[in-house]
Amino acid sequence: MTIPIEPTEACAFALDRADPLAPFRDRFYLPPGTIYLDGNSLGPLSRDAEAALLQTLEDWKGRAIAGWFEGPRPWLGRAREIGALAAGMMGAAPDEVVHSATTTVNIHALAASFYRPEGRRVKILADALNFPTDLYALRGQLRLRGRSPERDLVLVPSDDGRTLDEERIAAMLTEEVALAWLPSVLYRSGQLLDMAYLTARAHEKGVLVGFDCSHSAGALPHALDSWGVDCAAWCSYKYLNGGPGASAFLYVNRRHFDREPLLAGWFGNRPETMFDMALDFEPAPDAGRWQISSPGVLGSSTLRGSLAMIEDAGIEAIRRKSLAMTAYLVALLDEYLAAPPYAFRVGSPREDARRGGHVAVERDEGAERVCEALIARGVVPDFRPPSVIRLCPSPLYGTFHEIWQTAGHLKAIVDGGEQRPGS
Ligand SMILES: *Cc1c(COP(=O)(O)O)cnc(C)c1O
Repeated sequence: MTIPIEPTEACAFALDRADPLAPFRDRFYLPPGTIYLDGNSLGPLSRDAEAALLQTLEDWKGRAIAGWFEGPRPWLGRAREIGALAAGMMGAAPDEVVHSATTTVNIHALAASFYRPEGRRVKILADALNFPTDLYALRGQLRLRGRSPERDLVLVPSDDGRTLDEERIAAMLTEEVALAWLPSVLYRSGQLLDMAYLTARAHEKGVLVGFDCSHSAGALPHALDSWGVDCAAWCSYKYLNGGPGASAFLYVNRRHFDREPLLAGWFGNRPETMFDMALDFEPAPDAGRWQISSPGVLGSSTLRGSLAMIEDAGIEAIRRKSLAMTAYLVALLDEYLAAPPYAFRVGSPREDARRGGHVAVERDEGAERVCEALIARGVVPDFRPPSVIRLCPSPLYGTFHEIWQTAGHLKAIVDGGEQRPGS
């Protein structure tokens, strides 16, 4: 049974009562007395993640160096083990995903292998709304190849400063582009790009395509293999709840397993021969060859717990609830908060198929002070200058009634003039 979304408190109660994911909330530690809407920046700790980390500490205590090779889950296999746990929700095979390094390092590692300037095909296509670190990495890779970032990094512009037009991106995939590196979900507006469409258009033009899935991994299902994406990277501390700075992920489509990992390191060697300590690098036959260093065993342990929980909840069910939550929030904004003096605007796409896991709420005046007032009232949003308040209701630990309460706080903040300078 689906409950129609209406901008009422009764609707929130009905949705919460019917919510199959409601029991997951008790598995999280949430800051006391807060409504946590910032899981797209840092997911909170779950009991599952805590238990997995404590288990690793026990293993370290009890085994010391033997922990690499012995016990139920030797650390040596950590990168592949956690990669395999994330593969299903990303629509990839277990040997195509590896848990390694951090997002920005993985972007460097992938670009080093996938950006091969040749003949006229020398450019990298990205977009003007991209997360800054991605662009920094791409510019660095261009310089390493002796190319000019000013000339060879092409950014697809945005007409409204919020969203990208997929057809425009497609039109910019020319025979001069070697690699397109794009976001799955834009970190500000929450727009979800059509990755299947973009991959197909890129391949028609002979362009390789990679996605940064940091803002979609754990929020919605992916089909990286069936879309034919060439490579991808994503972080583990947003919707995957791995904890601050936890190691990240990379995906390489198996048709590229023979590419050379140019940011090579000893953990990318074939596992069987890595301890021969030969001076010649013998890359592993799978995505594992893009590993660089010893896995951050402590910082990846949490993910064994949190990824298993997502598996348990089911990524389809997570997406269903997430869409209902953001649709409910949008309905409340439209009904109570759009007109003056409230003047909040929805900066995210309204169509389900184009919306990721958060809603960008915009206000021309005092958006930052609205955020501060929300925090003072126990609601945790985040702010992206100059005018975007990001609200991310979580399907695993959030409730519909919290969204109702948050809308009430927004209204009360403006009613009380809390967003005015000096108030
Ligand atoms: C969060 C995020 C990152 C994070 O990069 P780190 O290297 O983990 O600091 C990178 N790109 C995007 C799009 C992100 O959302």
